[in-house]
Amino acid sequence: MAIHLISDLHLSEDTPDLEQLFTATLIDWAGRIDALYILGDLFEYWVGDDDDTPFNRRMVEALHAFSTRTPLFVMHGNRDFLLGAGFAAASGATMLDDPYLLQQGHARYLLSHGDALCTADSAYQQFRAQSRNPAWQQAMLARPLAERHAIAQQARQQSEMAKRANGLSEISDVTDSAVRALLDEHGWPMLVHGHTHRPACHVVEDATRQTQRWVIADWHDGKGGYLAIDNHGIGAHALG
Ligand code: MN
Repeated sequence: MAIHLISDLHLSEDTPDLEQLFTATLIDWAGRIDALYILGDLFEYWVGDDDDTPFNRRMVEALHAFSTRTPLFVMHGNRDFLLGAGFAAASGATMLDDPYLLQQGHARYLLSHGDALCTADSAYQQFRAQSRNPAWQQAMLARPLAERHAIAQQARQQSEMAKRANGLSEISDVTDSAVRALLDEHGWPMLVHGHTHRPACHVVEDATRQTQRWVIADWHDGKGGYLAIDNHGIGAHALG
C-alpha cells in the first residue's frame, strides 16, 4: 500500500485525453492505495462551486466515487484557488492548508503547491496575496458566472501568450531562499511540491542538515505522473 501524490493536471473540457487518463487512474487506484493527495491545479480553472457544467459534474462524480473507497485530499493551486466547501462536500475531498505536514511512520513530508516559493516573481506574489484573500474571493464569487468565465478565459489567454513568447519561463521557479526558509520553519522535513512543471528530486543541504525537494510532474499531451510514498520511501512514476 502507498500514498500517491499528483498535481498540475490542469484539467478542462479542452483536454479529453487527460480527463480520460485521470478518471481511469482514479478507478485503478480506488481501494488499492492508502490515500491520494492532489497538490493543486487539478483544474485549469475553477470559477466557483456553483459552476455546474457537464465537465465539472463528471469530475466531481469521478472524485466522489474514488473518495467513497479511499481518502482524498485536495490542496488549492493558483488556477483552482476558488475550490470551496461545496466542491469538498460533493467530491468527498478534504481540503488541505498549504503547506501541510504529512507524517508517515518516522518520515515527515511537507506538502505544498509550490507557487508561494516562487518569491522572485513579485507581480505573481502580489496576485497570489490578492487571490487568496477571503474578501476578494467573496467579491469574485458574487459576480455573475458568465463574468467569472470571461475573467478566467482572459487569464488563460494571457498565460498562453506568455508561454508562447517565453517557453516554460512563464512559470517562475522556486527560489533557494524561500525553500530554506520554509524548511527552517518546519525542521527540514522532505519537501514535496508541484506548480513549476519541472519534475525532479533536488538535494538541499546546509552545514548540518540534508533533505530532498521533490517536484511533482505536471500532466500534458495525454501523459501524467505521480509520486508514491511507501515503506521504502518516495519515488516518481509515469502514467499514460
Ligand atoms: Mn500552479
